[in-house]
Parts: sequence; structure tokens; C-alpha cells
Amino acid sequence: MIVHAELSCLTCGYDVGDVEGERGARPDTLVFLPVHQGDELLVDETGHFQCPRCGGRVLPQGVSPVKRPIDPKTVLEANLEDAIARGFVP
Ligand SMILES: [Zn+2]
Repeated sequence: MIVHAELSCLTCGYDVGDVEGERGARPDTLVFLPVHQGDELLVDETGHFQCPRCGGRVLPQGVSPVKRPIDPKTVLEANLEDAIARGFVP
């Protein structure tokens, strides 16, 4: 099952972005859609997501199944659409 989740920092409240992938998949195999362009998905040595701003713990929120998952091969396109949807000029 493919699931979608939103990532935000527990420490500073920073909105990191959205991730999508197989439930239980390794973090480095997930599709990552950053809220702030240029952010990367940071994962510490224990497999937890890290905040790119403060280094704090980031937890997936609102995990829900996805009917039409993003194709990792076209993630560039998905990123672009995501950026437009969020009001950024690409
Ligand atoms: Zn933070």
C-alpha cells in the first residue's frame, strides 16, 4: 500500500514537506515534496526524519493511503506541480 504523510518539526514547527511511498519503506526510498524549495529529506542514523532548519525530530502526520501515487520517475514533474499548487513561481 502506498501512503502519503505530511512532515513537520516537533521542535520548531517548520513545515518540511510531504512524503509518499510504501508503508514501512526505508526513508531514502520515499518520494519527497519539499514545502521550501531546495530542502532535502534529512534522515539521521536511527532512521528518523530530521528538521532541515533546527535539526529537531520530524514526525509523519496524517498518514493516509494514496489511490494515485506519484511515480518516482516523474517526481520532477510532481515537484513542479506541487510548487505551483503551493504558490511558488518555478
Ligand atoms: Zn525544526
